[in-house]
Amino acid sequence: MELQETSYQIQGVDLLKVAEEFGSPVYVYDADKIVKQYKRLTDAFKGVDLKIKYACKALTNINILKLLRSQGSGLDTVSIQEVKLGLEAGFEPHEILYTPNCVSFEEIKKAVEIGVQINIDNISILEQFGDAYGSDIPVCIRLNPHILAGGHSHISVGHIDSKFGISIHQVPHLLRVVNTYGIKVNGLHMHTGSDILDAQVFLIGAELLFNVAREFKDLEFMDFGSGFKVGYRQGDVTTDIEDLGKQISEKFSQFCEEYGRELELWFEPGKFLVSESGYFLVRSNVIKQTTSTVFVGVDSGQNHLLRPKMYDAYHHITNLSNPNGTKRIYSVVGYICETDTLGYDRQLNEVREGDILAIHNAGAYAISMSSNYNSRYRPAEVLIHKGKAQLIRKRESFDDLIRNQISVEI
Ligand SMILES: *Cc1c(COP(=O)(O)O)cnc(C)c1O
Repeated sequence: MELQETSYQIQGVDLLKVAEEFGSPVYVYDADKIVKQYKRLTDAFKGVDLKIKYACKALTNINILKLLRSQGSGLDTVSIQEVKLGLEAGFEPHEILYTPNCVSFEEIKKAVEIGVQINIDNISILEQFGDAYGSDIPVCIRLNPHILAGGHSHISVGHIDSKFGISIHQVPHLLRVVNTYGIKVNGLHMHTGSDILDAQVFLIGAELLFNVAREFKDLEFMDFGSGFKVGYRQGDVTTDIEDLGKQISEKFSQFCEEYGRELELWFEPGKFLVSESGYFLVRSNVIKQTTSTVFVGVDSGQNHLLRPKMYDAYHHITNLSNPNGTKRIYSVVGYICETDTLGYDRQLNEVREGDILAIHNAGAYAISMSSNYNSRYRPAEVLIHKGKAQLIRKRESFDDLIRNQISVEI
C-alpha cells in the first residue's frame, strides 16, 4: 500500500482547513474512498450473484450507511440498535442481516418483528426459535469452521474455544433441531476473524460450508463473512481482493451448479470499506522531553482511538502543520490518565505545540469504540463528499455527560 505523505487534500479539501473550521479532535471521512473500496470489491467477483452487507459496527454514522446504501450495499448488524440505525438510514428490513452473539431471545423476537434476516449462532436459541416460529421465519445459521485466522488473538473468532457460531462438529445435532421444528434454513454463514491475508483461508472455509450446505434444501444465500486486511503501515501486505474474488467466484459457481440452484454470495466487510477513508485529526498540546523519550501529548487518547491500546494496532501518523520539518522521533500519547500511547517511536516532521497531526485508518473501529472515559467529549465527525466538508456529528458537550445522571438527596 501507499500512503500519501505529502498531500493533505481530500477531494481538494485541505485537512488543516477542516481542523480549523470544525476544531480538534475531529474524525474526517473521505466518501470517495469508501465508494472506491465498494467498487473494488464488487468488481472482483464475476459470474456470481454478489451481495455486500456492510458490517456497520465499524462505523455507524447514518450518513456512512446512506452512502453505502446508495452504492447498493446491504447491512450486517450485531445489535437491535444497529438494526434501528439501518432503518433510520433508509435500509429496508430485508436488506439487513442481524448477526448477534449471546443476546437474549427477547431481542431476537424484536428483530423478527422488524423483519430483518436473522442469523443464529447457537443451538439453544435455535431451539427457542423453532419452538416460537416453526417454519414461519427463515433463518441463517452461523457456523464455526474452526479455521485459525486473523491478525490478533482478540480478533480471531474461528478457533475451537471461540464463543462464535455453531461448531461444524455439531452439525448432526443442528440437523436434528432443524428437522424437529421444521425450521427453514435459508442461509449459511461464517466469519472467521479479522485481518485475513490469504484467499486460501476463505476457500477452506467455503469448502467446509459447501459440505454442510448439501444437508440444507432451502438455501438462498451463503455468507462468507469478512476479515479482509487493509494497509495500516507503509509496505503492509493486504488481502488480494482481485485474486480472492476470482477464486471464490469460480468455486461458488461450481457449487451452485452442483446444488442445483443459483444462490446469492454474501460478504460483510467493515474495515475494508471504511478504514482507510478515515483521518483522525488531533492537536499537539505539549512536547515533553523525558530522560529517554520525546513525547507529543495530544488532545485525544484511548477514549477516541482504542485500537492501539487494545490490539497493539499501528496507526500511521503524520504532522499536517509542518510537512517539511526535520524528521524527529517521538512517542505520540494521549491525555487520558492511563498509558494511552497512540504511536511508539514515530518519525514525524518536527512537531511543535499546536500542530495538527493526522492519525490514519481512523474510519473503522475508531469512533465506534470511543467512550467518555475521563469525562471527555466524543469528537465531531466530518464527511468530505462531492468536494465539500460537512459536519455529520456534533462534538459532544457537557449536557451529553450529565443528561442521564439523576441527582438525588445526599
Ligand atoms: C466485525 C464483523 C465483521 C466485519 O469485520 P471486518 O474485519 O471489519 O471486516 C463481519 N461480520 C461479523 C459477524 C462481524 O462481527
